[in-house]
Formats: sequence, structure tokens, C-alpha cells
Amino acid sequence: MRILILSDLHANYHALDAILRAAGQFDQIWCLGDVVGYGPEPNECIERLRAFDLVCLAGNHDLAVAEKLGLDDFNPDAREAVYWTRTQITYAHTNWLAALPTHTTLAAHGITLVHGSPRDAVWEYIMTPPVARACLAQMETPIGFNGHTHVPYLFGKPLYESGVIAEPLPARLTLTQGGDRWLINPGSAGQPRDEDPRAAYALLDLATLTLTHHRVQYDVAATQKLMKQAQLPSRLIRRLRFGQ
Ligand SMILES: [Zn+2]
Repeated sequence: MRILILSDLHANYHALDAILRAAGQFDQIWCLGDVVGYGPEPNECIERLRAFDLVCLAGNHDLAVAEKLGLDDFNPDAREAVYWTRTQITYAHTNWLAALPTHTTLAAHGITLVHGSPRDAVWEYIMTPPVARACLAQMETPIGFNGHTHVPYLFGKPLYESGVIAEPLPARLTLTQGGDRWLINPGSAGQPRDEDPRAAYALLDLATLTLTHHRVQYDVAATQKLMKQAQLPSRLIRRLRFGQ
């Protein structure tokens, strides 16, 4: 089975469309949350994703839009985007977001999916080796996929080594399950923050546990134009061009 893994789409339909065109054949999508928030096309993104065999998690923005999470921890731009999204999103899509799980364990494959981290599925950012080490130790499966930071990254803890592997996600990687542990962030589909504005995603071959990481160019200007029309915060519009 071939899985398309994406995270932090943030209502960027042009990015989603480019990913779906570039990804080739796949059997299922795993979406690690933050389907909406920031971007201009929340309904279109949800509809397109739901047309596939989909495992989808809720991210902090999804929960905020669905009024299941307070806005105290959101910065002013993010908060404004949440308010705007609430005015646009259909009742049915709000209900769909509200019903999404915050984490899921695919026990048969030894894989955990979370938005933030295995110990705080909604809010924790895995950005440093000490945080990654604690999360890897707490994870119930050998392999985990997370999003939230918008930066494609790999943390690993080989069974017979004391150190933690910490590096930008390589283009190709074969995951092992013989006691090694892995946490993989495929990057952000709709608002990358690693200074590469292209949409990020990963493909996983479940039979061989081979993971490939990809970037694809999309029509950034088209998304920015829709954001301007929606009067979304200018900083959110600008950052898409730079991947920041
Ligand atoms: Zn996000």
C-alpha cells in the first residue's frame, strides 16, 4: 500500500492540487492536521481531501475553528484567520473538523500519527533533540509521524546508540522496526517554514517502509490573491512567497 502523507495544509487549495498531481498513484492519504486556518479555501480543501480514502487528524487550528480549543495561545494573525475561517466554513465541515481525532495508532503497522507530539498531540512542537528523545521514549509504536512545526525533519533513536539522530528529512529513507524509533515530520503542504516555499509531502510504501520526501512548486501567487481578496493578515500572505 502506498500512502500520501501530508500535514499543515492550512486551506491552501493550490498547494493541495499540486501535490495530488505530483504524487502519482497512492491508496490512502494520512493528513496530520491543520487542514484549515491561515489559508483562503477551507471548504475546497476539506471536500477534496474527503474524496480520498483518508485518515485525518485535528490540528490546533482545526480545533480552534470548530470552537473546541480556546484562542489564548494563538498569535493575533492566527486568531484573525481562525475568525475569518469560521465565517466561511460550512456547518457540515465544522462538524467534520470537530469529530477528527487528535492522534491515532495504526497498531498493525506500528505507526503513530499525531499533529504535535506523542505526549501532547495538539500543541507540543518537536524541534530539539531533548524534546524528541522524550517523545520517542513515550511513543507506543516504533514509528511516528507528526506535523505542527511546518519543517520537514527526522528524529531517530537507534536501539544500540545513545544519541538521537536529528536532521532535515532526507529525500529517501527506509524505516526499521527492530527496536529503533523514528519521528518524522513531512513538512507543511500549505505554509512551509523552512525557507523553501514549495509544498511538502511524503510517500510511504507500507510493505517496505520506504519513505520518500518531496517538494512541489504550486501557484503561490494565486493563493496570495485569494488571501488578499479575503483580507487575511498581510504577514500571512507575504510569508508564503518565502516559505517562512
Ligand atoms: Zn500548522
